[in-house]
Amino acid sequence: MKIIVGGGISGLWLAAELKARNIPCCVIEKNALGQAQTLASQGMIHGGTKYALDGRLSKAANEIGAMPARWKQALKGNGKVDLRAVQLEREDQLLWSVGSVGANLMGFFASKAMRSRIERIDPRTEAAFNYPGFKGHLYRLSEPVLRLDTLVEAFAELLDGQLFHAEVTGFLTQNGSVVGVETSAGQMPGDVIMTAGEGTEPLLSTLNGQRPQMQLRPLAMGVCKLARPIPRVFGHQLGGGSKPKLSVSTHEFEGAQYLYLGGQLAEDGVHLDDDNLRHRAVCAVSEALRWLEPTIETTRIFRVNRAEPSTNEGNRPDTAFVAKRNNLIVTWPIKLALAPALADQILPMLKITPDSSRQPQWPVAPQGTYPWA
Ligand SMILES: Cc1cc2nc3c(=O)[nH]c(=O)nc-3n(C[C@H](O)[C@H](O)[C@H](O)COP(=O)(O)OP(=O)(O)OC[C@H]3O[C@@H](n4cnc5c(N)ncnc54)[C@H](O)[C@@H]3O)c2cc1C
Repeated sequence: MKIIVGGGISGLWLAAELKARNIPCCVIEKNALGQAQTLASQGMIHGGTKYALDGRLSKAANEIGAMPARWKQALKGNGKVDLRAVQLEREDQLLWSVGSVGANLMGFFASKAMRSRIERIDPRTEAAFNYPGFKGHLYRLSEPVLRLDTLVEAFAELLDGQLFHAEVTGFLTQNGSVVGVETSAGQMPGDVIMTAGEGTEPLLSTLNGQRPQMQLRPLAMGVCKLARPIPRVFGHQLGGGSKPKLSVSTHEFEGAQYLYLGGQLAEDGVHLDDDNLRHRAVCAVSEALRWLEPTIETTRIFRVNRAEPSTNEGNRPDTAFVAKRNNLIVTWPIKLALAPALADQILPMLKITPDSSRQPQWPVAPQGTYPWA
């Protein structure tokens, strides 16, 4: 049995790849499927363009560049993972500048590789930008935005009977090798793959010897409830730097519309208290979408960590991470978009032997909910 610890996108995608190959596997989730980073994300399947706004195609931009096409294949039901049941928020993402910031994209458009990824569009073709008050430039990136609740639901159906609700509390070992897990529901023997995000390091610390180190990079996301709806927006406001100033996704819940805010605001916001950050979030929305005159009723701050392998200076690692030590596979995908690349790296590391093990009679893992719900 291949035991996958953690039911976020990494564990779910890997389990679906294994199921498609008839390799017995199960996912053990301590809370709810997708509930940690996965449902907290903005669901944007990046192809790396937003890391290359200065025109430089970094290593990160190269690996992730193949991901939008890979996801689109899965969304069409082509390939091993069939995600036809997943709904899209949008088939593309928008990038926009306000005022003269567009000039700073000169480097970007000087690069041929970059030009092929992005298209300048007429603001009159987009409901949220078709306003005389919009005075900037608008671009379209062919990178989808997923409805994450339907993503989790699709995997829950695909993996029916293989998703269990239990906390992994330690490892079973034999001669220094990991041969299974201890959980709140009992023991399970098998080959273990860690896809537990932030939960990975505490479990690794129960083992002797050298092990991959984890870093946490916090984000402070803004959640603005609007008094009246605006045309939906999914994309990034350019700030003139190499990263977006504000990333915006729009969501409906119980009759109200919410803007979920990331980007530089969420990175810088980790150093501010909630009151200060609420104020900044309101100002950021007013500036980024000024022509829509958004009226914000309430603003909440949602703090969440990104869990990743350690890098020397604590920066974002470039690529999905997989390492195998003492028969234990440890992984961090870095981005939701990179889940397929992560599974591609894991598959050749697995020992495939005849396996007649049965699924346990354990409780079924529930599906998680959005943090703003
Ligand atoms: C605010 C935010 C916005 C983001 N936006 C994007 C985006 O737009 N696009 C993109 O590509 N990426 C985005 N990311 C990154 C992306 O969300 C993550 O890289 C990805 O979701 C990580 O998935 P995961 O499955 O590895 O981890 P997680 O989703 O964190 O899942 C780990 C799971 O393991 C479980 N677990 C932990 N410990 C145990 C244990 N002991 N026993 C059993 N289960 C355990 C947890 O409960 C959890 O469900 C964003 C991240 C954040 C935080």
